[in-house]
Amino acid sequence: MTLSHEPPTAPSVSLRVIPKTSVSNMGSSRFSPLGRKPQPIRIAGTDCLIRPQASLASLTSFRVGGPAELYLAPRTTEDLQAGLNWAKERGLPITLVGAGSNLLVSDRGLPGLVVCTRHLKHIAFDDATGQLTAAAGDQIARLAWQAAERGWTGLEWAVGIPGTVGGAVVMNAGAHQACTAELLVNAHVLAIDGSVEVLMPQALNFGYRTSALQGLAHTASPEAIRLVSQATLQLQPGADPQQVMANTTAHLNQRRDSQPYHLPSCGSVFRNPKSYKAGWLIEQSGLKGHQIGGAQIAQRHANFILNCGGATAADIFQLIRLVQEEVEKKWSLLLEPEVKMLGEFQMV
Ligand SMILES: Cc1cc2nc3c(=O)[nH]c(=O)nc-3n(C[C@H](O)[C@H](O)[C@H](O)COP(=O)(O)OP(=O)(O)OC[C@H]3O[C@@H](n4cnc5c(N)ncnc54)[C@H](O)[C@@H]3O)c2cc1C
Repeated sequence: MTLSHEPPTAPSVSLRVIPKTSVSNMGSSRFSPLGRKPQPIRIAGTDCLIRPQASLASLTSFRVGGPAELYLAPRTTEDLQAGLNWAKERGLPITLVGAGSNLLVSDRGLPGLVVCTRHLKHIAFDDATGQLTAAAGDQIARLAWQAAERGWTGLEWAVGIPGTVGGAVVMNAGAHQACTAELLVNAHVLAIDGSVEVLMPQALNFGYRTSALQGLAHTASPEAIRLVSQATLQLQPGADPQQVMANTTAHLNQRRDSQPYHLPSCGSVFRNPKSYKAGWLIEQSGLKGHQIGGAQIAQRHANFILNCGGATAADIFQLIRLVQEEVEKKWSLLLEPEVKMLGEFQMV
């Protein structure tokens, strides 16, 4: 497999920047008449419940953001499909969310249906092939521990990444010079009509923290949506479980020593440009510890923005813009956000 480590030229953000005076109706559900607490909607003939005006702040690692106009967290593929059909019939925009560990959701919330995959779980280890198959919502870090307990190597690097399998494929999550694309055998990719394509890594155009699926996870056109429903990874069985557990623990400890895990964040905010670490550029620009509202550039790792308590998505957005401006002034380099910014953000 050949992997391009070139950052994409198009911005990775899916945000709408609005002028200061614009008014948004995103926070008010078209399904809840004024003054009435919105009731869950049950899709006829299914157990599938759609919740209007569901908070997204508790579903993202930044702990900020407004509500989803409509929210679904299916436990079965049948309920998932019923929810997707329901949104399609109504022409609603759809946003896919995994563990929310790489998302900055606007304080105004998100329009349409937000589908969260975190309850879609199924793990299978195939001893004959050394392949591990997991559903969209399985935690990649949990897979790393389970593989280690069996003496399977290959996934030790993933232990500190708080995302799902679906999110890891879409983001090409990675650490310690390894990444998801290098292990991926195939991903099952679901379209809104219920068809599933089994895609090999070559079809997913993987690069550094990017894949061809990134533009298809939050879109105004429900037909365009593509959901990673499961992935198969190639690992190497046969090692000493104690040794693999020790290596996995060492990876976790190394991360805890160098990264601030004690406060809400999204991990690294910016992709590393070709020849520098983004954190180093931010630090050299004098921005370590800089704070806007409740959001702060971490002292321990300048590529992390922390929610120190009471931060809004707008605080974090302004800090991201400030970092971009200051780094560009000093280094003539535009840092590209790795975090996915969803919804409307206001320039000040
Ligand atoms: C403390 C901390 C440390 C981190 N360290 C790392 C690190 O070392 N390396 C690294 O790569 N990342 C790191 N991250 C970022 C993040 O964990 C990864 O990007 C992760 O892969 C995101 O997975 P998720 O399930 O949370 O996806 P989300 O954040 O929910 O979504 C990310 C993107 O994927 C889409 N998406 C999610 N699930 C699906 C699906 N099933 N089908 C289609 N689209 C989907 C979303 O729409 C969005 O565009 C870190 C984050 C934190 C908070």
